[in-house]
Amino acid sequence: MPLLVMKFGGTSVATLDRIRRAAKRVGREVANGYDVIVIVSAMAGKTNELVGWVEETSKFFDAREYDAVVSSGENVTAGLMALTLQEMDVAARSWQGWQVPLRTTSAHSAARIVEIPTDNISGRFADGMQVAVVAGFQGVSPEGRITTLGRGGSDTTAVAFAAAFGAERCDIYTDVDGVYTTDPRISSKARKLDRIAFEEMLELASLGAKVLQTRSVELAMRYGVRVRVLSSFEDNDENAGTIVCAEEDIVESRPVSGVAYSRDEAKMTLMSVADRPGIAAAIFGPLADAGVNVDMIVQNISEEGRTDMTFSCPVGDVARAERAMNEAKERGEINFSGLVADTDVCKVSVVGIGMRSQSGVAAQMFRALRDEGINIKVITTSEIKISVLIDRKYMELAVQALHDTFGLDRAA
Ligand code: ASP
Ligand code: MG
Repeated sequence: MPLLVMKFGGTSVATLDRIRRAAKRVGREVANGYDVIVIVSAMAGKTNELVGWVEETSKFFDAREYDAVVSSGENVTAGLMALTLQEMDVAARSWQGWQVPLRTTSAHSAARIVEIPTDNISGRFADGMQVAVVAGFQGVSPEGRITTLGRGGSDTTAVAFAAAFGAERCDIYTDVDGVYTTDPRISSKARKLDRIAFEEMLELASLGAKVLQTRSVELAMRYGVRVRVLSSFEDNDENAGTIVCAEEDIVESRPVSGVAYSRDEAKMTLMSVADRPGIAAAIFGPLADAGVNVDMIVQNISEEGRTDMTFSCPVGDVARAERAMNEAKERGEINFSGLVADTDVCKVSVVGIGMRSQSGVAAQMFRALRDEGINIKVITTSEIKISVLIDRKYMELAVQALHDTFGLDRAA
């Protein structure tokens, strides 16, 4: 029998009524002839509440007990979903992670999936079971302790099951009806994409579009799992949601697929550092050791052997970056005449696999910003992305202008 993975996020199982609605969708796929593996999140807000309880109980908590507590929200929804399906005369049962067993590393609260044996669940399907309901977000370590996969981890559970079982598709039901060309709260012209390539989704996910856990997209790309993101609040037809798939499966060939932003960025400049072999290592080594998440880097042309080095990082990392640089200076590893932090900047990026084959995208982006009188402070590019650092007060304007200039409000 063909197999489908259906994942329901917290808002889709927030109440018994919503669990019933989700179960009806599952029932429909069973009637269509599928074996279904359902992955559930905890009811909306539950995980936050559990995390709060742990933090209130113990300041320096034992990560193993954190996972024991925080994973429990999913156990409740898995059982309730199985019961709801049984009430609809669908043969269903629930599994907690350790029962599968979904084996992970022992990195508590950020564990990685190592293996999902399929024999246990497949055997039940062979015996007439129609739906396996699995608690998302959790697994079991080599030491036999309960682990969790990091916030948003049920997405990764779902994709991993789809890969392990060779599912036809992995449907992720959430509170938005798909992936958009940009944040609809910023541009009213944002449009839902029918398809997006894994790589584009990865860029958008890491740039702050919080639809899917980044790791789930990496996993989907590695194993070629077709993921569909769709709303559990709407009646979906064939074309509902957004399909995240391989580049080859996308016919649309516009250069840019989406505009992303990240609001809280900072730009730091080390002035007049000696331009000599090893200087970049001497600067970025201590920054890495201090846990500063460096993003863009620009080294200016040098004059008389001295140069300015500029980099960007999250605003929250500025204090740590300053300390690391001053300490490196005191140790005599680097020398600079000044350290300037600009904490009022943001990053705006255009992303698209079409850029690989179309030239002039950067020029078009820069013209659009010029026409709005927006000054660009730093630029970086990759094969499928161009990012600029600009003053934060122009963020909305820049996103809207770029969305317009690349015609993202219209279907290609
Ligand atoms: N319930 C967990 C969380 O909120 C996992 C998930 O829903 O994906 O992070
Ligand atoms: Mg989520």
